[in-house]
Amino acid sequence: MNIIKTIGETRKIIKDWKKSGLTVGLVPTMGFLHEGHGSLIARSVKENDRTVVSVFVNPMQFSLGEDMGVYPRDMERDSRMCQELGADLIFNPEAEEMYTKSFYSFVDMSVISEGLCGASRENMFKGVCTVVSKLFNIVTPDRAYFGKKDAQQLAVVKQMVNDLNIDIKIVGCDCVREADGLAKSSRNSYLTHGERAVAPKIYAALLQVKKMVICGEHHSCVLTESFKRSMYDEPMLQTEYAEIVDGLTMQPVPQVTGQGRCLMAVAVKLGKARLIDNIEI
Ligand code: AMP
Repeated sequence: MNIIKTIGETRKIIKDWKKSGLTVGLVPTMGFLHEGHGSLIARSVKENDRTVVSVFVNPMQFSLGEDMGVYPRDMERDSRMCQELGADLIFNPEAEEMYTKSFYSFVDMSVISEGLCGASRENMFKGVCTVVSKLFNIVTPDRAYFGKKDAQQLAVVKQMVNDLNIDIKIVGCDCVREADGLAKSSRNSYLTHGERAVAPKIYAALLQVKKMVICGEHHSCVLTESFKRSMYDEPMLQTEYAEIVDGLTMQPVPQVTGQGRCLMAVAVKLGKARLIDNIEI
């Protein structure tokens, strides 16, 4: 398996694959891979002749004061994992390769990107849309794989390919969790032992909300209040947001509808980590 740092070389390899009629899957990541990423890679390997994993900590989606500088990295372990799962190429560019000194173009989105994570992380989705567009243009995949763990990101990417007529199938993959329910995330590595012990309370509270919905409680304000109350019980857990939203538009809804399109999406601060999670309700 090749680790390629340049756009030119990556394009050349992929052009050769395409000339031979091979299909290509892309799994965009920021590296420090875990089983959540692994599930996306395995699915791509199953559904495509060739799989490209991009490993790029995208400076454009971090604001000043966020964790760009300390974001965990382990290229050796990442490449071992990609190899074992059957990926064919890791695209691992430097920031200067992706953003030259004279870089002036951006892809941005309104509405879907404005609430939830977009409300506190101002440039995040502009950075996501721009880098994902660039990766799509470099790799020209048939399919691209994204995790439902980042539900707003998945909705943004789906909207972008629709709006901009990008001929790539976006595949959403289920969230992979630790045995105690905590959603796997590269950022879990920021947690201390004590913080890690309370982190599963986030998913437990989401499950509790789902139970309330099943028992007939459909008012968003009651459901979000229930989640927030569960977090108050543990002073280390600080809710940044907890909202019931439409799963496609990410817009808040006053009531859970019966069509199975709603999510409760949450962001919770725990020590140095900001953990996001969601549940379909
Ligand atoms: P990241 O490296 O955190 O930017 O994530 C890269 C891709 O992996 C995104 O599409 C994420 O949604 C997905 N991903 C991250 N964590 C998980 C998880 N626990 N389960 C499934 N997919 C995940």
